[in-house]
Amino acid sequence: MAPHPTPVTSDENLPTQTNVVIIGGGIIGVTTALELAERGIAVTLLEKGIIAGEQSSRNWGWVRQMGRDPSEIPLIVKSTELWKGLSKRIGADVKYQQCGITYLLNDDKQIAHYSHWSKHHATPGGIISQIIGQEKINQLFPHNTARWKAGLYTADDGRAEPQLAAPAIAEAARQHGARIFTNCAVRGIEKAAGRISGVVTEKGIIECDTVLLAGGAWSRHFCARLGRALPQLTTISSVLRTKPLEGPEITASGDDYTFRKRADGGYTITPDVYSYSQITPAHFRHFLDFLPLALKNHRKVRLSFGKRFFDELKYAFNTDLDAISPFEQVRIFDPAPIGWMLDRALKNLKRDFPVFGPLEVVERWAGCIDVTPDEVPIIDAVQSLPGFHIATGFSGHGFGIGPAAGKLAADIITSDSPCVDPTPFRLGRFKYSRF
Ligand SMILES: Cc1cc2nc3c(=O)[nH]c(=O)nc-3n(C[C@H](O)[C@H](O)[C@H](O)COP(=O)(O)OP(=O)(O)OC[C@H]3O[C@@H](n4cnc5c(N)ncnc54)[C@H](O)[C@@H]3O)c2cc1C
Repeated sequence: MAPHPTPVTSDENLPTQTNVVIIGGGIIGVTTALELAERGIAVTLLEKGIIAGEQSSRNWGWVRQMGRDPSEIPLIVKSTELWKGLSKRIGADVKYQQCGITYLLNDDKQIAHYSHWSKHHATPGGIISQIIGQEKINQLFPHNTARWKAGLYTADDGRAEPQLAAPAIAEAARQHGARIFTNCAVRGIEKAAGRISGVVTEKGIIECDTVLLAGGAWSRHFCARLGRALPQLTTISSVLRTKPLEGPEITASGDDYTFRKRADGGYTITPDVYSYSQITPAHFRHFLDFLPLALKNHRKVRLSFGKRFFDELKYAFNTDLDAISPFEQVRIFDPAPIGWMLDRALKNLKRDFPVFGPLEVVERWAGCIDVTPDEVPIIDAVQSLPGFHIATGFSGHGFGIGPAAGKLAADIITSDSPCVDPTPFRLGRFKYSRF
């Protein structure tokens, strides 16, 4: 059963004209809509299913600075600042809390990696992350009975509630004048004189000169319909939530599990070793760009071959803007969770933290994560198609970075001075996938 984000009703009467169309009502689409609407720009957000129906309600809810790719540090530091003021800014509580996050570590290579990261990237970037020993771990986790060689601890890191956040931001964007339409898939774009002139939706055409594609795991399929190859693959990750229980407030990952306290008093728990990826035609197309990542993560990702290959092959032949698109055929992608991985994570958690012994599972679900070759998002204007912009590929950590990513996307769209250096997020950085 999938989680239920707060329902957001759709506006009525699709406009025939607007300034900016945003494709996708996940955390990236809604934060960009809020930023643009606050700047007085006419913006229309179109979502094929419901607001936050996919990754943005299914994630763990971690707002994490630590362990980030060095190129993302300025963006996540900015995002942490924005999360702190978000509930006040939007007039709704997204339950953001700086509860601290700890990676509990036994692997010497990981300890060396995070020691280096904390000294050479976190501290110069303004993040206070420290390597801690067993004594500090025992202070932070009096409930733990395991021995750890070390931990990476960031007191300023935190959590928010995914099922509340994106819907609340969408409502705030609407209060500032954005129009929000759900159950409204975008099939493609229209061009005039070589630039964007509109979008074709299942409910009609909207004229506009600017489009932002924030389509999560669907962005690659949207680009393919424009004849463009976006280097993006997907993996499936499973999650469970429990009934309320007295236990640690601090968020952590340990030996094949992660946990974080939820605002409803329960826990969100996940495995932390593998994710699954079904082979698709894109695995072949983008093989060379993804090869270094595949070599780095070959122990962490399990590949399988199945129906998804043929589903995606069919998408490639469906390019008629008058026909029902894949975005209407799959309103909400709801993959099945992998039960044995969740059972094992829960067992390991209870072994290390006896306080979790009585936990009762309420719900299990999975989400499809979109990944780029360097696991860093793409936030950029497409030079070869004036008016078209992309913010996607958040590679399993876009919830925390979402508010700043939306701000940066809005800065690029409005040609305002960017809130951080956008260079690491350029589309043109991939060697073999020319867009
Ligand atoms: C299990 C799991 C755990 C995660 N844990 C964390 C975490 O703890 N912390 C963290 O920071 N990140 C986490 N992430 C990653 C994070 O959730 C994502 O990076 C982030 O939500 C991506 O947001 P998005 O808006 O790009 O995509 P999405 O939330 O997937 O939204 C994209 C939307 O676009 C819509 N769409 C697509 N194509 C069209 C179209 N043609 N027309 C109209 N609508 C369209 C889709 O229906 C979808 O609703 C996790 C992800 C998963 C799945």
